[in-house]
Amino acid sequence: TPTELIRNFSIIAHIDHGKSTLADRLIQTTGALSAREMTEQVLDNMDIEKERGITIKAQTVRLNYKAKDGKTYVLNLMDTPGHVDFAYEVSRSLAACEGSLLVVDASQGVEAQTLANVYQAIDANHEIVPVLNKIDLPAAEPERVKQQIEDVIGLDASDAVEISAKTGLNIEAVLEALVTRLPPPKGDETAPLKAMLVDSWYDSYLGVIILVRVRDGRLRKGQRVRMMSTGAVHTIDQVGTFSPKLTPQADLGPGEIGYITAAIKTVADCNVGDTITDDRAPATEPLPGFKPSIPVVWCGLYPVDADDFEKLRDSLAKLRLNDASFHYEAETSAALGFGFRCGFLGLLHLEIIQERLSREFDLDLIATAPSVVYRLYKTSGEMMELHNPADMPDGSVIDHIEEPWIRATIMVPDDYLGAVLTLCNERRGQQVDLTYVGNRAMAVYRLPLNEVVFDFYDRLKSVSRGYASFDYQMDDYVEGDLVKISILVNQEPVDALAFIAHRSVADTRGRAICAKLKDLIPRQLFKIAIQAAIGGRVIARETLGALSKDVTAKCYGGDISRKRKLLEKQKEGKKRMRQFGKVEIPQTAFLAALKMD
Ligand code: GDP
Ligand code: MG
Repeated sequence: TPTELIRNFSIIAHIDHGKSTLADRLIQTTGALSAREMTEQVLDNMDIEKERGITIKAQTVRLNYKAKDGKTYVLNLMDTPGHVDFAYEVSRSLAACEGSLLVVDASQGVEAQTLANVYQAIDANHEIVPVLNKIDLPAAEPERVKQQIEDVIGLDASDAVEISAKTGLNIEAVLEALVTRLPPPKGDETAPLKAMLVDSWYDSYLGVIILVRVRDGRLRKGQRVRMMSTGAVHTIDQVGTFSPKLTPQADLGPGEIGYITAAIKTVADCNVGDTITDDRAPATEPLPGFKPSIPVVWCGLYPVDADDFEKLRDSLAKLRLNDASFHYEAETSAALGFGFRCGFLGLLHLEIIQERLSREFDLDLIATAPSVVYRLYKTSGEMMELHNPADMPDGSVIDHIEEPWIRATIMVPDDYLGAVLTLCNERRGQQVDLTYVGNRAMAVYRLPLNEVVFDFYDRLKSVSRGYASFDYQMDDYVEGDLVKISILVNQEPVDALAFIAHRSVADTRGRAICAKLKDLIPRQLFKIAIQAAIGGRVIARETLGALSKDVTAKCYGGDISRKRKLLEKQKEGKKRMRQFGKVEIPQTAFLAALKMD
């Protein structure tokens, strides 16, 4: 296809503003799929995505549209991951397109994610077409929202397309806007091959499928291609486009979006953002902006039943096949046994992986509290990255510690602003900006990431009754007065419960954990001390009294079945005990203690 007849675009929107519904309509209107094939939303294809209304992996579909000018255009719709955890993947997907449809719910207006996404699209030099969705709703206020888009984003919204993705109203106008308002891609067919690796996933028949955007040159079957970041060379088996089904083609030229397969075994060999070139006539410079994605949140994952360890290992390997940004390595814990230290792009990514492990692989897991990556500077001058609080060396060798900070944008109705600001301040936040967007306040804060992984989303939702929207980006590393808090049961440190916190909150959190453990650990035949300590200094202490009577004594001997039940229950509990000094702690106590609230 000549580049003048190609338009590459993505749809950006806040969650629930109608991105998937609009995508479906565009597919349906251009006839890419029959009505029967349309029974399910095509672009959201994983269960978890559907339930949570988020897009995890980018998907693409090629549409043929006969425009009013009589010409038939190829429209490549590239879906982008909708969540901040996948910010780098979003930026690569956007870099593969020339324009975006900015979908805003006309009854809700601009939200935090709208802003975060639109700024990324502006960074990618996109031509942006504002689309006001849900104008079928009585609460829709298109004029007010247009004004908001102009005031807040600084984008001309006078030509915004007003649609209802649900009823199908004005979908044709969206297609015309794509053709007339977005620029065609540019590229040089005769230059050495440069194609961007946008995404990849594992298919059990074809091996790894790579989503590519060709800049210059041509990709064809049988060609030997080289990944510029690693130098790895592969021979292309298949080249094609997404209809959205995989449809083989002879080749892909400048401006085109499609896929290649090359008998690649794992997505770990396919770095998002990498440049693919011809091995025999390589480009000299890669495309700009490549960076490997780095996990920012780590936690330990352990099987509740120790016999499931091998199954967990296999399951993690399978997940990794499809998700190169997920990392894991084996680790052992005195408290929890054999497990894995796992790294994620953010909290949502962590939740998704955990949920998939339990849902798709039927694994019962214990997760330790998530921890960010600290930078430890030793007195020797050496820097070490700390992924696990339990690995923190002795205080005397540490010169100082740095922690990652984020820049957060929070939008909230005025009524809840006070509570939101209080929450940010409690979490050591620093206000950067506070402005109004209509009757909604927009607060920009710098916050330590470790205060955000510690239940921030949940608290934000509860103090704003669900009305606040939140988005963030990684900012920088800053020195902090950070300490490791160890939890000791009967003088023995419990590695899985150790955590790092700012000194100002260490006492409060230490006390909270001790109090909780006191309720969770069953009484033993002797008194037990439960302590929180920084180095050798105890900062909180609870004492669990000794057990005095036989547990069955209160059954008065009469009720045999009840007595038996109690004893069985005890036996069940015994199976999952871990020994600490002379103290046995049931697995359930860890589970509960690790669930912060
Ligand atoms: P996404 O999270 O941006 O992908 O949003 P969805 O496409 O999943 O839509 C979120 C919700 O809004 C769904 O319940 C849709 O049925 C509904 N919705 C989408 N477009 C419209 C519209 O034009 N009008 C109305 N009334 N509802 C819509
Ligand atoms: Mg969606």
